[in-house]
Amino acid sequence: MQTVWIAGGAGFIGSHLSEHLLNNGFQVICLDNFITSGEENISHLKDNPNFTFIHQNIIDFPLIESKKLPKPNFIFHLASPASPNKHSKRSYIAYPIETLQVNSLGTYNLLEAAKNANARFLFASTSEIYGDPNISPQPETYFGNVNPNGVRSVYDEGKRFGEAITMAYVRKFNLDARMARIFNTYGPKMQIDDGRVVSNFIIEALKGEPLTVYGKGEQTRSFCYVSDMVEGLTRLMMHDGIPGAVINLGNPIEKKIVEFATIVKELTKTTSEIVFEELPEDDPKQRRPDITRAKEILRWEPSVSLTEGLEKTIAYFKQVI
Ligand code: UDP
Repeated sequence: MQTVWIAGGAGFIGSHLSEHLLNNGFQVICLDNFITSGEENISHLKDNPNFTFIHQNIIDFPLIESKKLPKPNFIFHLASPASPNKHSKRSYIAYPIETLQVNSLGTYNLLEAAKNANARFLFASTSEIYGDPNISPQPETYFGNVNPNGVRSVYDEGKRFGEAITMAYVRKFNLDARMARIFNTYGPKMQIDDGRVVSNFIIEALKGEPLTVYGKGEQTRSFCYVSDMVEGLTRLMMHDGIPGAVINLGNPIEKKIVEFATIVKELTKTTSEIVFEELPEDDPKQRRPDITRAKEILRWEPSVSLTEGLEKTIAYFKQVI
């Protein structure tokens, strides 16, 4: 049986990935410190004999080593705060130093662990490394347009550093590493108070409160359902012969945020109105992945429609709010 470490394995995407890999016959070692994730995301996995949970901040490498974990064949690094919403206590705005640490020192520690174990490594990068892009859709060859010290920089520059150090290990040590640039992803197990647009709009709609569109809502995003993302991440990790590969994973169907609010209104059948609030600083105006590389190399593209994915997500939030 092959062993997978998932740093951030109790997070939104990490917990779905943990479940998927357990179902596919892997031993899963989940490392998480719950700063922005939730214990409830993995409670259903705890009785599985192939699942081990380690309460661990990955910036502390001696502690990782001292725990004498089963040697990994694969290491996924998904540990990081990821919400930009300044109103959320789970956002990277609330944890700026931790965000920089987990993507720099945390990535270094896991790269060392991968090198020592001769394991394959996947770094969860992000569409945020493109910043406020000047071209759309964004291909992997685009270098981005990032404010290096703005409010979002702790995440954007943290992830850019994470990519740089991952590539340094590929070049210097021939580490078999790859990077996924993850675009907006949604689905069950997003935290209620995460502050992301999908969870905010659904919760507001279900509570009959106004849907809070930031700015005029003319900015665009492209939303990928979590099961598609998990399949993409798994294919990227399991694909042989692509050390140093950088691949966008996301759904190329783009929506204006105000249009997205209308879709949520229709699917929830809410009577809530749409209200307009202040646009956050450095909020990207457009975001849409070019997924040519994922299609060609991984034979991957999203298969869950926005309506189908939102219906499942709405059903989940009805249960938990
Ligand atoms: N947004 C919004 N209302 C909300 C939360 C977010 O209009 O309640 C907007 C936000 O300004 C951004 C987009 O929706 O333009 C996506 O925001 P999110 O926080 O989900 O992630 P981002 O793509 O900015 O990282």
